[in-house]
Amino acid sequence: MDKVKIGTCWLDGCSGCHMSLLDIDEGIVAVLEKADIVFGPLVDAQEWPEGVDVAVIEGAVSSQDDLKLAQTARARSKVVVALGDCAVTGNVPSMRNGIPVRKLLERVYVEGATVPSVVPTDGVPALLKQAEPLHSAIKVDIHVPGCPPKPNAILFVLSELLEGREPDLGSKLRFG
Ligand code: SF4
Repeated sequence: MDKVKIGTCWLDGCSGCHMSLLDIDEGIVAVLEKADIVFGPLVDAQEWPEGVDVAVIEGAVSSQDDLKLAQTARARSKVVVALGDCAVTGNVPSMRNGIPVRKLLERVYVEGATVPSVVPTDGVPALLKQAEPLHSAIKVDIHVPGCPPKPNAILFVLSELLEGREPDLGSKLRFG
């Protein structure tokens, strides 16, 4: 039987949700018996592949690059999981939303610089006006809140999906 293909990525997040994913400890063995991780920080793949079964996405959508990756993952995946409060609500990245982007960049790169500096234009993803939750950019099938989500909630979601069931997080839900 073909293994389920899982892809993971983080957009505007701190990687804490991926750390929580790794914290499922020996649960990862059971997951990998039934699934292959085909994209993510631990996989040497440059591009989100076609034919992914489960996309696990951490972080808010804050830049053009985030938006493009989220759209690609959605187009090439059957199920999309928003992992963590940043993906579910915008959370920490959305704290910038009351500040115009230009003003924000000048504060960080010019006013906050210890040596004369300018706002970079090359090699830095262009910020969107607002940092948005993932469901504002693409259709999301499953939301797993928490900052980060508890490892047992992540393992539950993956295990249910690997069994072909829709996970009912019920009492496992928490924000923050
Ligand atoms: S939800 Fe929390 S742990 Fe996850 S990326 Fe956001 S700030 Fe980090």
